[in-house]
Amino acid sequence: MKLLSIVVPVYNEEDNIDHFYEAVCDVMRTLSYDWELIFVDDGSADRSWEILERLEQADDHVQPIQLSRNMGHQLALTCGMDYSEGDAVITMDGDMQHPPELIPVLVKAWENGYEVVQTIRKTTEGVSWFKKFSSRGFYWLLNHISETHITEGGSDFRLLDAKVVRAFRHYREHVRFLRGMISAMGYRQTYVEFVAPPRFAGASKFSMKKMLHLAMDGVLAYSSMPLRFGLYAGVFCAFISILIFIHVLFSKFVIGDAVAGWSTVIGCVVFFGGMQLVALGLIGVYIGRIFEEVKRRPLYLVGREKPRIRKKSFRQEEGLQDSRMAAT
Ligand code: UDP
Ligand code: MG
Repeated sequence: MKLLSIVVPVYNEEDNIDHFYEAVCDVMRTLSYDWELIFVDDGSADRSWEILERLEQADDHVQPIQLSRNMGHQLALTCGMDYSEGDAVITMDGDMQHPPELIPVLVKAWENGYEVVQTIRKTTEGVSWFKKFSSRGFYWLLNHISETHITEGGSDFRLLDAKVVRAFRHYREHVRFLRGMISAMGYRQTYVEFVAPPRFAGASKFSMKKMLHLAMDGVLAYSSMPLRFGLYAGVFCAFISILIFIHVLFSKFVIGDAVAGWSTVIGCVVFFGGMQLVALGLIGVYIGRIFEEVKRRPLYLVGREKPRIRKKSFRQEEGLQDSRMAAT
């Protein structure tokens, strides 16, 4: 029987875990798959770990891992995916905002041959106007400055085929934004829409500060555009300075009424300011390249391969292993 792994990061979710666990059990009973439920306790300070240990005692499906401290949602998810052994891995939140009833829908799409089944949150019930607005602005910005397209409302509720999870394990950058990374990985992707209900219990763990951090990570991990900003600004200034010089020449020789010295000084200031920005921008461009290289991402991912070529790919795996070892 095939195995499904469900990965759930939990951070101070003592009032949600039991309810979530029951809901998952109800759903999994309706599917003919073996399953494991991997909870990653992201350094909770409440009774979450106790509850997880109790569930583990009672049910072999439950496999809790505890991180040494709070490392953040994205790293907790990564840890759970590293430990998962399923033929497909589903990641979801433990607060019931990612409805377990949707699991069969994701699995169905996977059975139909999709390797990444991403959910898109249409609306979230009971979410502030501000959160909606900031989230929309964030996706707009991200999609305008980076090459990767991330659909608005994308959540970390998704199903990944084991093949994708294996490939994902080669991505070891510290600053990570899973939505963007997975969207950029390719493979056969599809979307499922859902309406996120309010949390079952407790409050959101994403403070304004954490949201800003995540947004920054998303932008910085997915775009070197901010680094190129100096270059564009510099070229713009240089252009303006040329206009100023034309204005100077025009005033002097055509109108014959130039204020002595003023235009020349401004023109020079703008011109040299522009040159400095260009130089900074160029450095930015190189840093951008370095930034891409130090991530040491796989150069390419193979989507499908036939048996005869697969034998060769083992050598390829070893090669990757070697390069990863060299990197650490
Ligand atoms: N979470 C986590 N570490 C954190 C913050 C959150 O593991 O530092 C977990 C949390 O327990 C929940 C999920 O990530 O299962 C989503 O968090 P939350 O519901 O607070 O986010 P929101 O739904 O408000 O975006
Ligand atoms: Mg939530």
